[in-house]
Amino acid sequence: MKKFFQYFIIIILFSAWGIILQNKTSVRETVSEFTGIGLPCAKPFQYAVGIVDPRFDLSANNFLAEIREAEKIWETQSGKNLFEYKPDAQFKLNLIFDERQVASNAADKLASNLDQLEISHQKIANQYEDLAGIYEKKMAKYDANVVAYEKKLRDYNKAVADWNKNSGSQDEYNDLAKEKKTINELYDKLEKERTEVNGLAGKTNALVSKEQKVVNEYNANVSTYKNKYGGSREFEKGLYDGKGISLYQFKQLADLRLTIVHELGHALGVGHVEDPQSIMYYLLSDQNMENPQLSPDDLSALKAVCKFE
Ligand SMILES: [Zn+2]
Repeated sequence: MKKFFQYFIIIILFSAWGIILQNKTSVRETVSEFTGIGLPCAKPFQYAVGIVDPRFDLSANNFLAEIREAEKIWETQSGKNLFEYKPDAQFKLNLIFDERQVASNAADKLASNLDQLEISHQKIANQYEDLAGIYEKKMAKYDANVVAYEKKLRDYNKAVADWNKNSGSQDEYNDLAKEKKTINELYDKLEKERTEVNGLAGKTNALVSKEQKVVNEYNANVSTYKNKYGGSREFEKGLYDGKGISLYQFKQLADLRLTIVHELGHALGVGHVEDPQSIMYYLLSDQNMENPQLSPDDLSALKAVCKFE
């Protein structure tokens, strides 16, 4: 009975786990729309590096390297020299550290806590499986031994009653005495087995409460995550304001680079396009982050703005 109850508990925990893990948040990018520059793309758009907040842990040189990579994506695919780094250019790209990156870092930390807890949970679940398997085997063996013992005891009692009724011989008496000794030994063995099985049950139950603790902690972390970073909350990753580009949040360099490619598009005068995989889609979500490519929509928007053939 006990073992079924434990299985029941563990199944409930697993399904709760599955539901919780579905939570996700998305990061949005918003931008002031392009206001217009004279003769777009007639000559390379000049830019410089402005503020690089040290809290991003990215040097100005490495920041510039990412900008150059972003520049290349526009230039390689269009076959035009669209941008030019000029250290004293008016137009600056800035890395501005504020509550957005703070929130992003905190969210990362929580996410990594959740990963760790998931690993602990899996470990406990495996231990539980092993222990429950051993418990089940020992319990089955114990049950079978109890049945055998009870039969032996019944037979013995019947033999004793017969012996008393028929005034049996001394030999029969000796046999019965021997059988009694065997039965007593069997009883002691069963008691030992019972203690062992109970010990295993105790260990298994301890694992279940350990797991409950991990699940509780996980759930607490998930609700913190949800309250702080979930729902429809949006924040700007980057902003083009006509005079410069400000970048506010990224998780990895590829993410930063993709945001720069997008904002550079705005600097050229390209607005948002409809296709979610496009660089110039208003959200950073479905684009190929590791290897960003201009989509046909991006390219036609660029051609329209720059009046390329
Ligand atoms: Zn945009």
